[in-house]
Amino acid sequence: MKVITITSAGKKETVDSGFAERVQQKSGKELRQCYHCLKCSAGCPLTFAMDWTPNQIIRMVQLGLEKRVLSSSTIWLCASCETCSTRCPNEVDLPAIMDTLKEMAIRNDMRSEQTVIQVFHRVFLNCLREYGRLHELSLLLSLKLLTLNLFEDMMLGVKMFAKGKINPLPTRIENVRQLDLIFKIFGESKRSRT
Ligand code: SF4
Ligand code: SF4
Repeated sequence: MKVITITSAGKKETVDSGFAERVQQKSGKELRQCYHCLKCSAGCPLTFAMDWTPNQIIRMVQLGLEKRVLSSSTIWLCASCETCSTRCPNEVDLPAIMDTLKEMAIRNDMRSEQTVIQVFHRVFLNCLREYGRLHELSLLLSLKLLTLNLFEDMMLGVKMFAKGKINPLPTRIENVRQLDLIFKIFGESKRSRT
């Protein structure tokens, strides 16, 4: 792996020539086939909110711009709708690559502007690991406490609670500890920071 520093538009930026290879290995998906036809970006329903379009993310991965990619909002805004992969003439599996980039961002403690989504990702996984299924109240409370956004949507929560849409007590699936093995296989060895 060769790491060099370049100057781009007056800024210094680290280029990691092994980044694309690592993304391919971790995701199991080929990304060198991308020839930037833009079909993915033209169809993506979330580009209006993204800082980089999906094909730009692929290009930056190819160029080894690891820090820029892992701190981007795009990887967190991707909804895994698969519109891009359906349209891609080269079968580049962008949703899987985006998922891999999210996990790499977490491991490298890279923050984006999408703080709430990053926190949601963590509390969602922790909830699954604890109960084997989603417990909405635990997830909501964790999210509120960790983002310190305590009162937004409070009345909506009260209404859902009154209609019995939120179960106050969590239930666990049988043999929930078997999930630890799944998390371990995918390298999620500990309850992570948020
Ligand atoms: S549609 Fe496929 S080949 Fe075209 S830019 Fe997107 S990822 Fe690359
Ligand atoms: S999977 Fe992600 S990148 Fe692809 S079209 Fe959907 S939101 Fe956009």
